[in-house]
Amino acid sequence: MTRKAVYPGTFDPVTYGHLDVIKRAAQLYDRVFVAVAHSAEKSPLFSAKERVQMMAEAAKGLENVEVEDFDGLVVDYAVSKSARVVLRGLRMISDFEYEFQMALTNRKLNSDVETVFMMPNESYSYLSSKLIKEVARLGADVSEFVPGNVDAKLKEKLRK
Ligand code: ADP
Repeated sequence: MTRKAVYPGTFDPVTYGHLDVIKRAAQLYDRVFVAVAHSAEKSPLFSAKERVQMMAEAAKGLENVEVEDFDGLVVDYAVSKSARVVLRGLRMISDFEYEFQMALTNRKLNSDVETVFMMPNESYSYLSSKLIKEVARLGADVSEFVPGNVDAKLKEKLRK
């Protein structure tokens, strides 16, 4: 049996924290589908297409990782990939409440799909896409927190 997992998120943009989770998952599962949510309600800085491109480039060396966009329910996406696992990252206790609610909601929607949480290396546990956008907008150097291609895209986007 092929062990497959789906890692859904907005990834606006992808950070080293997300990549840390993806690398850990790539060692545990045969195939990992990174699912970039359209998340129109969150008014992302980058379009879904841009977020997929940035993620695909950042995850290029990981042979068993595939990246695509999706819209709709995560559990339906997982079923479409015949994956039974949805991965989410947990940074701090502050992530817990929302993630807990979402995991139980997804279980109600489809009890065959299990949510699995992964903790990144502690050096990434304070990283968030939101904060990176905020400080980058104010001129901070974020090259320590995001891959080079994302750093370049952020500069390009925020200069406009
Ligand atoms: P959302 O899916 O809620 O829109 P994100 O795209 O930022 O949010 O995150 C996708 C998943 O990755 C979530 O489970 C989130 O908790 C997790 N995540 C975000 N940043 C990090 C990080 N620095 N380290 C580990 N996991 C993270």
